[in-house]
Amino acid sequence: MSDNLILGIDLGTTNSLAAVMTSGGPEIIRDDRGASLVPSVIAFSEGKVTVGQEARDHAVENPTATVYSVKRLMGKSVEDLTNEMDVLPYDIVPGRHDTVCVNVQGRRMTPQELSAIILRDIKTRAEVVCGSGKEISRAVITVPAYFDDSQRQATRDAGRIAGLEVCRIINEPTAAALAYGLDRNEDACIAVYDLGGGTFDVSILRVSGGVFEVLSTQGDTQLGGDDLDRELINLLTDEIRSEFGEELTFPPATRQALRTFAEATKIRLSTELDATVEVALGGGRVFRRTITRDEFESLATRWVDHTIEHCARALRDAGLGPQDIDQVVMVGGSTRVPLVCSKTKEFFGREPYTAVNPDEIVALGAAVQAGILAGIKRDTLLLDVTPLSLGIETLGGAVGKLIMRNSTVPCQASETFSTYVDGQTSVDIHVLQGERELAKDCRSLGKFQLTGIPPMPAGAPRVQVTFLLDANGILGVSARELRSGKAASVQITPAHGLTRDEVDSMVNESYAHAMEDLNAHRLIDLRNESERILKAIEKSLETAGDVLTPGQRQALDAAVGDLKAKREGEDCDAVYEAMGVANDAAMPLTEAQMDSVLSKTIKGRKMDDV
Ligand code: AMP
Repeated sequence: MSDNLILGIDLGTTNSLAAVMTSGGPEIIRDDRGASLVPSVIAFSEGKVTVGQEARDHAVENPTATVYSVKRLMGKSVEDLTNEMDVLPYDIVPGRHDTVCVNVQGRRMTPQELSAIILRDIKTRAEVVCGSGKEISRAVITVPAYFDDSQRQATRDAGRIAGLEVCRIINEPTAAALAYGLDRNEDACIAVYDLGGGTFDVSILRVSGGVFEVLSTQGDTQLGGDDLDRELINLLTDEIRSEFGEELTFPPATRQALRTFAEATKIRLSTELDATVEVALGGGRVFRRTITRDEFESLATRWVDHTIEHCARALRDAGLGPQDIDQVVMVGGSTRVPLVCSKTKEFFGREPYTAVNPDEIVALGAAVQAGILAGIKRDTLLLDVTPLSLGIETLGGAVGKLIMRNSTVPCQASETFSTYVDGQTSVDIHVLQGERELAKDCRSLGKFQLTGIPPMPAGAPRVQVTFLLDANGILGVSARELRSGKAASVQITPAHGLTRDEVDSMVNESYAHAMEDLNAHRLIDLRNESERILKAIEKSLETAGDVLTPGQRQALDAAVGDLKAKREGEDCDAVYEAMGVANDAAMPLTEAQMDSVLSKTIKGRKMDDV
């Protein structure tokens, strides 16, 4: 790690995190369990200060000495905060020069000092991970686009108190756009939609010559995923009361449990179509309820509609219409709610960018900016052509390539696949990048599942997989079963984290292994084909096995046995030959079946029709 390391920090209302620029692109700082988010919560207890998850876990027991949402206090006066004072359980008191302080166990602390505690914790974590033993002394910190001068100044001061030279304060939406490399657009308008736990904002940016300009910003500092949790809590408490009695009260532990269940249910409903909640109410009483995604969406609609109204307002302020927006970028954990994505897509009339983790995108963008300031060259993959082929894993671990390397972007390709098992109701789609012929030798970009396919015989469903690579290198992969219309999709940034050297070495490896790969791919195809033949023979034997003479049956059994043995081996030619022998031996069966189909067809008709 170089000496001129600059940390990119997303100092959030709910969570904070950091990233650094490396030669392979921006990288999130994670702890040894892989976690990146540090809850922006500080607990003061018995002379000890704790930050993050531990502080959050004890918030219920220690409400007056646990400080969270400090970002809401930054650069604000008591008057600014009249609406928030009631909802924050800790003691907010007037500070000097018309500012506020938090009274923590008799000590007045400014929001800057409190934020500095979080920043110092983030800085220490990064120093441990970067492992150089050196102190990290510089940072880029992000702030909402609507932050005014005093809020920005307060953020700078917090950095300074934490021992960080704040090289640049950048807007969160700008950071999100930087993480997608959208600064490389010639001239474009970008909408950044940011829905977190407790805040929402949308910003309209214009980028030209690598410079971002915020044209407008709108939002609601009291709207977010917590509102969706609250809808579920209300639904649950109403139903618990009607089942177990109106007089039922909820002690703090049950209320906290309900909050946790509600959030977990909401998160499950982002990927599942229903989720079951079980609440133990004491005295052996258990409330159990399955909530469907449709039910949740009907509760969430009004909140999501509010966000869309803000989008319309932001566009109006910028003097633009939805058709003027070239890209929509999604930020914040709550944009994982499918309804949020579908409504945003409907409003802007384009698929929003969701490829980068919405919790991490702002920190990644801050690291990109830090990298530019530190003079670290950015991953400069050419985006006018795709540097590596893109495809999906097919049966047996082979790769079906849809977009070949060096294709000019934007480009689109579709291919239709089917199922291999009778009654198969789901298909796993594994998206791969690379030149090699086997999935295990390519780079996995992502996986998703197409579910809800009606049960049909193997080979009957028609699954159309479409790859759409846009001019920014964002890959959208969708799968649709054409008979039932069931569809699923995923978005991926294929170039993310790959350097020019890595791309070159992947291409060179493919040349080095070309022959070996080709054989491996052929073997997989032959194994798949022989599996199909063996299944067909088995089926025919069940329905028409009695047409065979004992000699024919013996020959067929021997051919089947031989094919089964050969397909376990590695010799392509031997499998190919055994397939031919098995096909020949099965000929009398095939002929008998064809005769029976023909005679059935003819029987139903008059001679004149034939
Ligand atoms: P943020 O403030 O960006 O960290 O976002 C936090 C919010 O995102 C919280 O309300 C979370 O419950 C919500 N959230 C996180 N993951 C998901 C998910 N998979 N589905 C729905 N909401 C989520």
